[in-house]
Amino acid sequence: MPPGTPPQPPIAGYDGVVCDLDGVVYRGDEAVPGAPRSLQQLVDGGVRLVYATNNASRVPAEVARQLAALGAPATESDVVSSAQAGAARLAADLPAGTRVLALGGPGVAEALSRAGLVPVRPADVMAEDPPAGGVAYPEVAAPGDVSAVLQGFGRNVTVADFETAARLLTRGVQWVATNDDATLPLPWGQSPGNGAYVDLLAAATGRRPDVVGKPHPPLYRLALDRLGTAAVRTIAVGDRLATDIAGARAAGLDSAWVLTGVDGPSDLLDTDATPTFVVASLSELQRPYAVPQREALGWRCGVATVSYSDEQLVIGHEGGDRMEVVRAGLAALVEARERGTATDQLRHAARVLDRIIEDGRDDSGRTPAADVPDEEPASNR
Ligand SMILES: [Mg+2]
Repeated sequence: MPPGTPPQPPIAGYDGVVCDLDGVVYRGDEAVPGAPRSLQQLVDGGVRLVYATNNASRVPAEVARQLAALGAPATESDVVSSAQAGAARLAADLPAGTRVLALGGPGVAEALSRAGLVPVRPADVMAEDPPAGGVAYPEVAAPGDVSAVLQGFGRNVTVADFETAARLLTRGVQWVATNDDATLPLPWGQSPGNGAYVDLLAAATGRRPDVVGKPHPPLYRLALDRLGTAAVRTIAVGDRLATDIAGARAAGLDSAWVLTGVDGPSDLLDTDATPTFVVASLSELQRPYAVPQREALGWRCGVATVSYSDEQLVIGHEGGDRMEVVRAGLAALVEARERGTATDQLRHAARVLDRIIEDGRDDSGRTPAADVPDEEPASNR
């Protein structure tokens, strides 16, 4: 941007948004404060919006109902799931009506049906192919009649289901996984995610699946199809650097990293992710955004200046927008990393940026400095 140009809001450059869910729109059962209202304002302003989720277990209609109940604009067709991306991959390779093992929650089977394939439950696969001329019951499938496995997360998947999948995979059928997130955040901590169950089958079969969810491009391509916007005019928004932000880049999209979820500022040092924008919350997509600039002594962002010196961040101008300090600080840290400073040393220095974000949150986890206009209750929607 030329010097003297007033800062523009990030959303000014885009027609479409691919929005992550957990950590961005909601956390657990509760909305991220201000997020539903910000999304409604985006849509009211003419921006097209879809939600892209790696969660393959739930059907999109159920996700849309949850979003609508929280006050976010959402219909079933606004939700793009990794199960849909997986079913689309298989439907591109297999004739309509092909039987596919649906290993996972209801979202997996529904996505296969909607893509013109026939989902088969693991419990409905026979132990062996019937002898020639043998009669199979119509509700069961012989192993030889099942041409692929679509694996997504499901809480009710059993050891017997994995055995059935392994039996098919050993025969060489096509294998697509909705996502490879190793963990699933639950209120008490980290639980095994679909990636852990993929690894289980991989260890047993010596194979690896094609994976379609974030950070892999197919889910983003499906989201772009749904939006009808050009990749260069579409921005992906998410809280996880290794999935949302790295995935956006792999798919050729700009990205906004939102600090309402899992990853905090110091986590940037553990990745090569390069978010286009760093925002405290969704509402900042619609506010003027100062881009960090290199100056003689350090990095300037708005009224904040930050440099990395003597193994710490030197913050030259506090009192402005806390996110300007965070952005300038991240720019200084990334520069120091590129010059060869050890990541451990930088991570220690970066904790001051984590604290700025943590201190800015009230009890609900919100970052208030940037969210003040969103305090009104989201009513009459
Ligand atoms: Mg998330």
